[in-house]
Amino acid sequence: MKPTRRILIDWYHQHRRDLPWRRSEDPYAIWISETMLQQTRVDSVIPYYERFLARFPDIDALACAEADDVLGLWAGLGYYSRARNLLKAARIVRDRHGGALPDSAEALRELPGIGRYTAGAVASIAFDRPEPAVDGNVARVLARLHEIREDPKTPQTQRRLWDEAAALARGANPGDLNQALMELGASVCTPKNPRCPECPLRRRCSARRAGDPESLPVKTRRAQPQRVAAVAGWVVRRGRALAVRRPPRGLLGGLWELPGGALARAEDPETALLRALTERVGLAVPRAQHLGTVDHAFTHRRLQLHLFRCETPRGRVRLEGFDAHRWLAPAAVAELPQGALTRKALKLLPENS
Ligand code: SF4
Repeated sequence: MKPTRRILIDWYHQHRRDLPWRRSEDPYAIWISETMLQQTRVDSVIPYYERFLARFPDIDALACAEADDVLGLWAGLGYYSRARNLLKAARIVRDRHGGALPDSAEALRELPGIGRYTAGAVASIAFDRPEPAVDGNVARVLARLHEIREDPKTPQTQRRLWDEAAALARGANPGDLNQALMELGASVCTPKNPRCPECPLRRRCSARRAGDPESLPVKTRRAQPQRVAAVAGWVVRRGRALAVRRPPRGLLGGLWELPGGALARAEDPETALLRALTERVGLAVPRAQHLGTVDHAFTHRRLQLHLFRCETPRGRVRLEGFDAHRWLAPAAVAELPQGALTRKALKLLPENS
């Protein structure tokens, strides 16, 4: 009987999508693509990947970059710690590894932002190392293939999934084997309506035999996202709008936004904004005009942001909880590195703001 790994690799060679990073053998390009693909869809990643590689074509170019430039290219892709870690890791590779990415999973995992999955993916695809790489797609294929009915989040099941993946990765072409599993999960063994009749593993898949592949992997119950509200001001002085930068660590670290803060319980949005501007940027604003609200989902939170326009602020800027500020021509605010929430909020501004 043909080994499962051979079936997968043959299928991959016939069916793989032509993606920009698959045309490259450069470990740096593969590392960037694997980092961008974490929790992000392929279609969304392609334009970011191409812009990033055009601007920072190698590790040295990235290591010499300013954080603002890297975050600017990442803006809209989410999970910004990935971009900050890429920059840190590039500098370490330049300073301690002579500019060449380490070629083993173990050494790759020493770098900031490289976990077990990324280390396995880069080591196998770029350096032909027989390392497993289990992401959500791979876990789903393996859970169905072996009919693993235990919660995939538990350490025991994780161990089982990684062991199954490691057994398959052992042998020639481990990079293609891992990509075959990822591709199969993304295009055939999908979470809903898996296309079993087209699957190269259909004759040896236990979940298919049991008749309920869609029930695997078993779902862990997710906590409901917490609902929170916040306020922000489009604060204008002599035709220039105020933007503030978040400190480098934490959620949206290093990104620019409009000044504001959280809405306290039972506080009305306008009062909250006037208080936040005084407390966090040292400005007193006589009144604020409500421009609208936007909603945004973070991983564990749903946030509703109220945006206000504020003119003639009094006082000098004193920052609390931000690490830099700029007064900018209104059109220039949208050019700063910023998250999706701020971009949505800026769309509420009337033209000629
Ligand atoms: S046969 Fe169906 S459930 Fe099994 S691996 Fe293939 S697509 Fe997934």
